[in-house]
Amino acid sequence: MVEHSATVAATSEVGRVVADLEIRRAWLVDPAGGREGPGEIVVQDGRLEALTWLEGAEAEGVEPTGVIVAPGFIDLHAHLREPGSEDAETIASGLAAAAHGGFTTVCAMANTDPAIDEPGVLARILAAAGASGSPIELLAYGATTVGRAGSILAPLGELSDAGAIGFSDDGAPVRSAAILRNALLYAGMLGRPIVEHAEDLELTEGAEANEGLVATVLGLKGWPAAAEAGPVARGLAILADVLPDEPRARLHFTHLSTAAALELVRRAKVAGLPVTCDVTPHHLALTDTWLAGVRDWAWQDGPSAWLGTGQPARPYDSALRVNPPLRDRSDAAACLAALIDGTADAVATDHAPHRQVDKAVEFGLAANGISGIETAIGLLLAAVDDGRLPLLRAIEALTSGPAAILGLAGWPGTRGLLEGAPANLVVIDRSDDWLVEPGSLRSKGKASPLIGRTLPGRVLLTIAGGRVAFQAPDPA
Ligand SMILES: [Zn+2]
Repeated sequence: MVEHSATVAATSEVGRVVADLEIRRAWLVDPAGGREGPGEIVVQDGRLEALTWLEGAEAEGVEPTGVIVAPGFIDLHAHLREPGSEDAETIASGLAAAAHGGFTTVCAMANTDPAIDEPGVLARILAAAGASGSPIELLAYGATTVGRAGSILAPLGELSDAGAIGFSDDGAPVRSAAILRNALLYAGMLGRPIVEHAEDLELTEGAEANEGLVATVLGLKGWPAAAEAGPVARGLAILADVLPDEPRARLHFTHLSTAAALELVRRAKVAGLPVTCDVTPHHLALTDTWLAGVRDWAWQDGPSAWLGTGQPARPYDSALRVNPPLRDRSDAAACLAALIDGTADAVATDHAPHRQVDKAVEFGLAANGISGIETAIGLLLAAVDDGRLPLLRAIEALTSGPAAILGLAGWPGTRGLLEGAPANLVVIDRSDDWLVEPGSLRSKGKASPLIGRTLPGRVLLTIAGGRVAFQAPDPA
């Protein structure tokens, strides 16, 4: 029995301090402490006042299939579209979506218009977060190069002083190896990572779908795995090269999607290189067969040939167009394996909302991206439910994993389930599920291949910095 609804009801307004909340007999998940199990928490005046692990008879009947309490999630990779494309998303709508997805910290990518390539744009974004009234913590990357154009290094020092947590030209790679080398050196001096979108733009010119059987049958131009593995190999070589000069240099590859690229990172880690990477929920859970209308989870056993299974969904759904593309089952399995063995340090959503007009077009012409920040935990829980991913690892990949990549002082300690700290937590009802519909998404971006699908685990409450960030409406 969970006794939270009555006390939370008084503090339901977003932004209000959680004055008094007690959650009894829940399943606590504490990745920083490496522990999960039955427990209880008390939040008072926005602080996590008490955390008690239950033992013996008291713990009886408390299962991870009921209500779970975990630290609030950190999204390493989100596109909030402000400034420049506020009709696709605003910082306010993006933060509301994040809260609905259980996130309490969001790292905004720099590919806004203008790009976050000077401190003024960064200040404007942070001010918009403050004005939104959301208690979600917004952090932002600076662009690696001026205008993300790849030719001149952005003022990394000034951006860092203004609060940039790292540097990325995401949406595009840093094309020049020489500039990437300088960026790793300068960002290293500043103690910040370079976050690379690994893509060989010559190999992917005109590409629409993962190179393979599905693309061939659907008549879509193939997007080869080498377009990812090549730039990863290049980045690792440059990283190894700069380390003697700048031992603090750090390279993070975001949204890796292929077995080949992940294997390169795995080996580089064994060799001791300071490299990290993340994978997205959609590359773990979805495959390119979704483009053909066959929408099994990537890990589900089914006929290896998708052609014979009938077509429950329409093919060429442009909501599935994403960069990098959805891969085949073996690449998705490699993403999952990398997450489990620690090759992938984190799960990042790559939340990429778009206007409907940019998505409601022919597959190959649609904008790349999935509105994914609200469905991330549901996809991971689907893998948990099917026995493919331990719950503790799934939560770790959304909390202490990304915190370690960012390397910010005090993380993850003050962000975990820590007594006395400001409450940053998410409460999820694992006994409930929810239907993904345009109306159920807080994001302005409604392009999700999961529309019409039921996802496990309903977020009941998200508390950020001791304040209500999201609360599920009372059931009718
Ligand atoms: Zn990207």
